Amino acid sequence: MFRTHVNNQFSAYCHEELSAGETRKVAEHLIGCTRCRKEFEEVKLGIKLAEQLPLVSAPDSLWQEVEMLLDQDGHPVNERRSWSGISFLIQPRFAIPAFAVLMGVAFIIALSLRDRSEGTRLTGASWDVSRLDGAPQIGSISVNDKGKLGIGQWLETDANSRAQIEVGNIGQVEIDPGTRVRLVETKPTEHRLELARGRLSARISAPPRLFFVDTPSAVAEDLGCAYTLEVNDQGDSLLRVTLGWVSLHLRDRESVVPAGAACATRPGLGPGTPYFEDSSEMFRKALTKLDFEPNDPSWSRTPTLDLVLNEARPRDTFTLWHLLSRVNGSDRARVYGRMAALVPPPEGVTRDGVLRLDQNMLNLWREKIDSECDSVNSVPAVVRDVLGRTRSGIHRRL
Ligand SMILES: [Zn+2]
Repeated sequence: MFRTHVNNQFSAYCHEELSAGETRKVAEHLIGCTRCRKEFEEVKLGIKLAEQLPLVSAPDSLWQEVEMLLDQDGHPVNERRSWSGISFLIQPRFAIPAFAVLMGVAFIIALSLRDRSEGTRLTGASWDVSRLDGAPQIGSISVNDKGKLGIGQWLETDANSRAQIEVGNIGQVEIDPGTRVRLVETKPTEHRLELARGRLSARISAPPRLFFVDTPSAVAEDLGCAYTLEVNDQGDSLLRVTLGWVSLHLRDRESVVPAGAACATRPGLGPGTPYFEDSSEMFRKALTKLDFEPNDPSWSRTPTLDLVLNEARPRDTFTLWHLLSRVNGSDRARVYGRMAALVPPPEGVTRDGVLRLDQNMLNLWREKIDSECDSVNSVPAVVRDVLGRTRSGIHRRL
């Protein structure tokens, strides 16, 4: 299926040296190809590590010592450089200088990566903003037609204004009235906005996990998608996905939300259980109580969970699947029972295994659920990776 892998373009991709068309091709390939994505994650990690290196000079004494030790043999340093093999490095008398030289080389490579990355950052450290309506403001300055949003700057719209942001060359974000957003970071390995309040709509065509939006109660992480995200004055947020997948997480709690589904978050609690927007109102209300109002005396847990289970359609087993790991004991057994009635577990998935949250079994069942749900046609490999990660997170939490 993937005739041409794109790993030879990672360096150019990371340093924004490809055309818009080539960038899109790499991005689309990365969404579907596990092999390239794995390699890409390593390249990203390397760049991140290089960025974190402090800029310090090696003390002169270290270099003098290195040269002195190399000269002890009676050979000039230059002559030694022409040696074709490196076997001499493993001789005990050269162990220390060899280590120092290797460290030096690693340091220089890391610095050059850091410099390239910084260079990109300096030239691309702001995003283009277009006024769509009214008078959006960047800091205290009104955007008449076009403007630039730099790192650390706030873009604010009042009740009558709207704006559009170009997110590097990976997508667009529309800012609705009454919204406050800040550009936190933009670099090849990470583009990050903070949404303090209001609503934004994002359409991103980048490899997964490059575009992030921080909200007061969770981080939205793009897995190749289009979505709207809104935050109210209490810091609650609501994510609605229209295309692809988005992950919402806070610490080790994560919800992976497909197109057609939504997920709410609350400060301190993180993301709730995701649900399809065409589920019944009763189903959604009961789910909100389970997720966010565990101490509300006006309802009790058992009938509320019953309501969720009774209202669930086959497609809502997607929600019940998330609930499995968020409830315990007899509640988990009841969730299992309803799921099994709606979408029977495939071969190899047992009741006992599911109740102890066996990761493989949960995966297998999830695949069957997704393939039987109308709007979740196929789960991209990246989402499978994230789902695996989610469950390990949940195991740690429990
Ligand atoms: Zn590939």
